[in-house]
Amino acid sequence: MQSICVFSGASPGAQPEYAAAARTLGAELAARGTRLVYGGASVGLMGVVADAVLAAGGEVIGVIPRQLVAQEVVHLGLSDLRITSSMHERKALMAKLSNGFVALPGGYGTLEEFTEVLTWSQLGLQRKPCGLLDVADYYRPLLAFFDHAVTEEFVRAEHRDLILADTDPARLLDALDTWTAPPLTRKIDPASIPAP
Ligand code: AMP
Repeated sequence: MQSICVFSGASPGAQPEYAAAARTLGAELAARGTRLVYGGASVGLMGVVADAVLAAGGEVIGVIPRQLVAQEVVHLGLSDLRITSSMHERKALMAKLSNGFVALPGGYGTLEEFTEVLTWSQLGLQRKPCGLLDVADYYRPLLAFFDHAVTEEFVRAEHRDLILADTDPARLLDALDTWTAPPLTRKIDPASIPAP
C-alpha cells in the first residue's frame, strides 16, 4: 500500500507495550515502503510511530489543525507537514491521502477518528480497509462492545466485519493489503453527500 493513516493517542499510555507496538508498526511501514499519514504531533504514541518511520528511512506526512500546532507540539522533522484550518479538514485530508487506516491505542480522539472512517465505509463513502492494532488487550473491551452492538441489532454483522483486528503490526498490515471491500448493503447515492 502506498499510504496508511495511523490514528493513535497523544499520550504514551500506561504500559511500555504501547510504545513498543508503535515502534514496530513504524519500522514495518518503512520496510514496506508505505508512507505514514498521521496527526503531525511529536507527543505520545503519535510521536513514537512517526519517529520510528523516519528512523527507518520512511516517509511521513503530518496533518494538523492550526489551533493544535502548539498544544500537540508539532513534529518539526517530518517529510511533509500540512496545516489545516479545522479538525474536520484535518480528518478529510488524512483520509484523502491514505489507502487504509490503522488505530493504535488512544483516547477519545483516536476512537472518534477510527469510528468516523468506519462509518464512511459502512455507508460506502469510501472503500478502504480499517484495522485496530490490539496491543496488550487494549481494544478487547471495544471489540466485545461491537459484538454486543450486533447482538442488539444496532450494527449489522457485515458491518462488524469491516473492522480488521490483530495483535501483531505486520499481520494487521498484511490483512489490510489483502482486504477486498464487501458488497454494499446500505447503498446511498454518493453524489448526495459531499465526499469525506
Ligand atoms: P487522543 O486519542 O484523544 O489522545 O487524541 C489523538 C489525536 O486525535 C490528537 O491529535 C487529537 O487532536 C485528535 N483529536 C481529538 N479529538 C478529535 C476530533 N474530534 N476530531 C479529530 N481529531 C481529534
